[in-house]
Amino acid sequence: MYSYKCNFLCKHCSVGAGPFHDELLPIETIEKVLDQAYYISSIKVVAAAGGEPTLYLSHLRTLLKKAADLSFITRVVTNAWWASTPQRTYHFLDDLRALGLEELNISYDDFHDEWLSRYGGWRNIVNAVRAAVDLGLRTVIAVVRAKNSLITANVIRERLKLEGLDNKVLILEDFLSPTSRAKGLETVINVSGYGCGDVGHLSVHPNGDVAFCCGHIINDPESGWFTRIGNIYREISQTL
Ligand code: SF4
Repeated sequence: MYSYKCNFLCKHCSVGAGPFHDELLPIETIEKVLDQAYYISSIKVVAAAGGEPTLYLSHLRTLLKKAADLSFITRVVTNAWWASTPQRTYHFLDDLRALGLEELNISYDDFHDEWLSRYGGWRNIVNAVRAAVDLGLRTVIAVVRAKNSLITANVIRERLKLEGLDNKVLILEDFLSPTSRAKGLETVINVSGYGCGDVGHLSVHPNGDVAFCCGHIINDPESGWFTRIGNIYREISQTL
């Protein structure tokens, strides 16, 4: 997560991303982090998330190239705002694939659709999925389900079937992470009593903080502190 800047302002955003964020990890720092990650054998996948990682294309291109050169599996998590036409989408993804992208992970649900509709809405999802599949990228749609959600995993499956794209995409349905702007929204299950499967993943944040999870709760004032295990500026300056 080199930035929390996002062109969307989803009501359920668990990290509180939005257009007002200006913190940004420098490209050189991203490269140093990847160089160090190479020596941690349990790290296999490098994912660019945020915020919307495509808003800083130089950062994204550098991260993908460097991660692929170091033989990491690579993933981009995106809201697909850029997929407004089939041609533009294909060229955009082909460039990222050539740099080393292996997985396109698209976030789409009721909350995202409210903002994606300004850029093309569902057509963007179709354009992104079709281009990603044609380019041989592993393709995932991640759906957050809240109480009264209209766009569910099954709805997306039916819509993809109409486009001839069913069975080509992994659809992951998840509950709301009740942190940041999602606090107070009604989810479909009571999350207390459930563990999180992402504990153990490392995430690096725009201010350099490192957390031992995918980062949903890093900005939560009550619990985010608990997941912070260091800061790359401090640790990198000590080890280089
Ligand atoms: S949920 Fe994703 S698309 Fe929505 S504001 Fe947060 S980072 Fe942006």
